[in-house]
Amino acid sequence: MATMRAMSVPARGAKLRMEERPLPEPGRDEVRIRVHACGVCHSDSMTVEGNSPGIDYPRTPGHEVIGVIEALGEGVRGWQTGTRVGVGWSPGACGYCTRCRHGNPFACDNIQGATGVTRDGGYATHMLAHASALARVPAELDPVASAPLLCGGLTTFNALRHCGAGAGELVAIHGVGGLGHLGIQFAARLGLRVVAVNRGRDKEKLARELGASEYIDTTAGDPAAALRALGGARAILATVTDARAMQAIAGGLGVNGTLMVIGAVGALTVDSLELLRKRASVRGWYSGTSVDSEDTLLFSERHDVKSMNELYPLEQAQAAYERMRSGKARFRVVLRMD
Ligand SMILES: [Zn+2]
Ligand SMILES: [Zn+2]
Repeated sequence: MATMRAMSVPARGAKLRMEERPLPEPGRDEVRIRVHACGVCHSDSMTVEGNSPGIDYPRTPGHEVIGVIEALGEGVRGWQTGTRVGVGWSPGACGYCTRCRHGNPFACDNIQGATGVTRDGGYATHMLAHASALARVPAELDPVASAPLLCGGLTTFNALRHCGAGAGELVAIHGVGGLGHLGIQFAARLGLRVVAVNRGRDKEKLARELGASEYIDTTAGDPAAALRALGGARAILATVTDARAMQAIAGGLGVNGTLMVIGAVGALTVDSLELLRKRASVRGWYSGTSVDSEDTLLFSERHDVKSMNELYPLEQAQAAYERMRSGKARFRVVLRMD
């Protein structure tokens, strides 16, 4: 019997463990993917630490997947075996519910949950995915190096292109880490004036090399005042995982500015008077659908956006996860399967 291997979480809060299982057959509208690489994302903590309700264990995390289609289930149209594909957070969409028909497939009524949370993800040699969750991966992109573009890249690119800022306008990338180092590259290549914001000066040189024209050290003074001194940000892409740090910079928005929240920090306090006065807003941004992933990958290929990664073999997924959680990785952590 053909088998697959997966690094799975056996129970809430338990360490990742290697499992060998029979190779699954794709169900209706599903494909089986032979996984080449899978990024290790901060959001994998939902599965590993179990801080999201309703997860069934054992569960295999991973939502930054690149691989090739190995088998097609019944009813799959438009995809062939051998095609290189990516799978992100989105588990797909039905295409016929009210939300899908209104152009909001990310909130589909019928296909819900998330890859690696409510269904098994890419910390594995193989996985199943709904055909609507697949993104085409350009042949020129390295499958291992590009895996983080399926979440870290998608989230920053998609938030930036919906943040309201046009070419030449000031955008702050708050946090120069796993998300931020991608956000700076996308923002610069989208023609925005990029100011990188981070604690200390360690990452200033890199931020400028990636495309930032300005840099604000949040430990050197009031970061909101520093942004206002530059004219105020048309958008702040808040990638940090600390609500207080986000609150401290929100006042740096300019007129019609938008604080795009992509880091999950729980409750957030903002000064309503500031919002009123500037006609500013606070907006959350879901990462994106498979079509958004495809746009992200194509843009990255054309404009040479690259994720900086530390690579681990699949068997060392626990060490890879801990490295990501330490916050010390430069900048994304990726599992490779072969
Ligand atoms: Zn992610
Ligand atoms: Zn739907």
